[in-house]
Amino acid sequence: MAEMTPMMKQYWKVKEQHPDCLLFFRLGDFYEMFHDDAKLGAEELGLTLTTRDRGKPEEERTPMCGVPYHSAQSYIARLIKRGYKVAICEQMEDPATAKGLVDRDVIRIVTPGTAMADEMLDESRNNYICAVYEDSAGAALARCDLSTGQFSAAPFQGKDYLPHLLNALAACPPSEAVLSDAAASDGELTAFLKDRLGCLCQPVVEARFRPAQARDALCACHLRGEDEPFPEENGLRMCLQAAGALAGYLTETQKTDLSHLGPLVIEEGLTQAYMELDLTARKTLELTETFRGKEKKGSLLWVLDRTKTPMGHRMIRSWIEQPLRSPAAIAKRQDAVEELSRDGMAREELVLTLRRIPDLERLIGKVVYGSANARDMLVLADGLAVLPQLMAQAETVAGRALAPLLRGLEGLDGLERALHAAIREDAEDDRLPFTIREGGFIRSGYDEEVDHLRDILDHGADMVAALEGREKERTGIKSLKVRYNKVFGYYIEVSKSYYSMVPEDYIRKQTLVNCERFITQELKDLEHEILSAQSRVTALEYNLFCKLRDMAAGQVRQVQTAADRVGRLDVLCSFAAAAAENGYVRPEVDESGVIDVREGRHPVVERMLKDSLFVPNDTHMDGGADRLSIITGPNMAGKSTYMRQVALIVLMAQMGSFVPARAARIGVVDRVFTRIGASDDLSAGQSTFMVEMTEVAQMLKNATSRSLLILDEIGRGTSTYDGMSIARAVLEYCADKKRLGAKTLFATHYHELTEVEHSIEGVRNYHIAAKKRGDGIVFLRKIVPGGADQSYGVEVAKLAGVPDRVVGRAREILGELEQQGWAPPRGRPQAAEPDQVSLGDMAGAAVLEQLRAVSVETLTPIEAMNLLYQLKSQL
Ligand code: ADP
Ligand code: MG
Repeated sequence: MAEMTPMMKQYWKVKEQHPDCLLFFRLGDFYEMFHDDAKLGAEELGLTLTTRDRGKPEEERTPMCGVPYHSAQSYIARLIKRGYKVAICEQMEDPATAKGLVDRDVIRIVTPGTAMADEMLDESRNNYICAVYEDSAGAALARCDLSTGQFSAAPFQGKDYLPHLLNALAACPPSEAVLSDAAASDGELTAFLKDRLGCLCQPVVEARFRPAQARDALCACHLRGEDEPFPEENGLRMCLQAAGALAGYLTETQKTDLSHLGPLVIEEGLTQAYMELDLTARKTLELTETFRGKEKKGSLLWVLDRTKTPMGHRMIRSWIEQPLRSPAAIAKRQDAVEELSRDGMAREELVLTLRRIPDLERLIGKVVYGSANARDMLVLADGLAVLPQLMAQAETVAGRALAPLLRGLEGLDGLERALHAAIREDAEDDRLPFTIREGGFIRSGYDEEVDHLRDILDHGADMVAALEGREKERTGIKSLKVRYNKVFGYYIEVSKSYYSMVPEDYIRKQTLVNCERFITQELKDLEHEILSAQSRVTALEYNLFCKLRDMAAGQVRQVQTAADRVGRLDVLCSFAAAAAENGYVRPEVDESGVIDVREGRHPVVERMLKDSLFVPNDTHMDGGADRLSIITGPNMAGKSTYMRQVALIVLMAQMGSFVPARAARIGVVDRVFTRIGASDDLSAGQSTFMVEMTEVAQMLKNATSRSLLILDEIGRGTSTYDGMSIARAVLEYCADKKRLGAKTLFATHYHELTEVEHSIEGVRNYHIAAKKRGDGIVFLRKIVPGGADQSYGVEVAKLAGVPDRVVGRAREILGELEQQGWAPPRGRPQAAEPDQVSLGDMAGAAVLEQLRAVSVETLTPIEAMNLLYQLKSQL
């Protein structure tokens, strides 16, 4: 590397400042990558590696690869998805006019959490970047969606704040997190972010989190006034530290106007306002995607989402992820859904209008950020133009709940008219240009100067011909011609014989054998006008665009408000449509602590069933005599479905949605927990008994008496006796008023646990009915009081197609076991250890008995295996 070219020196200077980024270095129409960046880029993007210095020996060549600038976004998007950061280094001056080396600088750093281009964003989800600050007083989480401008911060205080922080992260998973030193060294937090949420974690210079720097960064983004003092109170202080660090990071990476951000919302009572759900509950209840396939189809979102606008798509997702806790807030949403439910026809009209509204929220974000082009501006204007109609239609159905919403849609007509007046139509065969530096987007008739310049461009030849005609007439020279060449530009040519007639004001430029060439001031002015018209018109259009942009940016808050109202209206319409289509009712929501559902249904399963009808079931739970339901019944009876149905109905009610039932009264719950026995989801790969127990532990630590607990066959992942013991101990703990006393649905395959009904008040036995028919079984899907009389395992095995010989043999074994009086073990609550020892002994004895009875000669290998398995599972 003895003689590095000046350009490579420039490259290295820039690269040194951004060691953790892939550097996209603008060279003409390409972004080039060099050296290691080139190798990595070539590999990740499937590009061909080349070199600039073919003459040099192999080891001195600089590997490079590049992508055309106009298609760069899709390449950057791919790199960002894989967790890289890309620094965009642009030419800061026009290479045509630059003297020497073109000045270059990094204009933006693109990271997963700061994507702005359409190619990198999914219109149906927010793209969050967050900052976490931790110190001895607790933690704060700041969260921002750069594309929409949302910016909020929430404090987490108290000794055990971490689970609450993790739950808040799970509600709106970020794609990138900026961490203070303490947060970055918090193993549990970073593991959760990286492994469970797939989030890119960035340790950030600690100084950014210091109050002074944080305050400056917030001021710079207009998120806080200059004169507002930094608060003393810990929660607020930490919030501002996190938000300030985030604002600082965004400013540094984006290097542009970020005044579309905000307002900064401090969510002090986050855990009071929203129901808290941990990631496990979100996943097992399949709120936004299915547990296994990770698909939207089959999730609650799939059932409820009829939204038509990008704002609506994003908002319904956040409403589903964050059910409310205040009955008053819930009632507001319900009232609105009810108003929209009264007139289905009017609602459908409204929905047709909603369909025409584009992503106002991200469009105005792009406008302020400076990345909007003329097409974006036109789409924005088209969207604003729909608002008055939307408002008029909504007014016909709006009652007291919707009316205040509609007011936020007003007042944007002026902006809409101004934009439409300025930007021309976007025609199929004449698209608006992609960049705002090429001109060609200002409507004709909008600006006199633009029209004049365009006229010159279109009619330059005519104007020259007209001048030629005038000069011929004035001078009387018949052969006078206006010509053009590259050296002189335009000139007047007069042949020798007419020299005497040349007027005084002609300026001689060149004498040839047969003719002379002249110029006049008028001709030079015309020439200048023609030749500069192009660059003047593009510059002028650019300026006009900037003015429009500033004007639109000046109304950023109004546009954001309108976008928010459109989103709300869209989600409320969606709830109303889902309710109408699926026969939902408005639940009564209160603080009673009672969950009473008449003929409830599972919102998703009822939609997925193809050739059978969903059987509705009632539920009654309260804080008193009906606190905990033990649910037994054969495999496949519908236990899991029933319990999830109850949880989903509660969640839907707290979202403000109507619910799948004939009638429902829901006392709000603070949290819903769902825990599933490990062997139910072995296919997920990671679910082991240990994970199951960790989750149970988390639940028992964090649940309150106002929580709803769904426990689905816990204790399966281990041997029968310790599994059953754990299940029973957990059951007792949940039911006991002196401990948890939470409303609990507890499905178990341990029939023995039905005993508990007699020993703890508030516990009730239920089972899901099934009937034997011949050797088979019919599932009735009805929940009825009392424990199941038997488990029908053999019948289910038969139904599942286990070979008859095996089923027959199983029946034989079962008969023998029953004859031997192998009674289910019993125990009292808070069973003392001696009980467990004797249970174990009993099992040992039973196994011995069976072993003695087996005639090994007649067993098939499969039967032998099965028997062994059974015997083992009894130990
Ligand atoms: P379990 O947990 O008791 O083994 P599941 O809840 O998994 O049973 O239910 C098994 C299947 O039975 C479900 O996939 C569903 O198709 C069907 N099912 C469950 N409950 C009902 C119901 N109430 N009405 C109709 N079908 C049901
Ligand atoms: Mg089940």
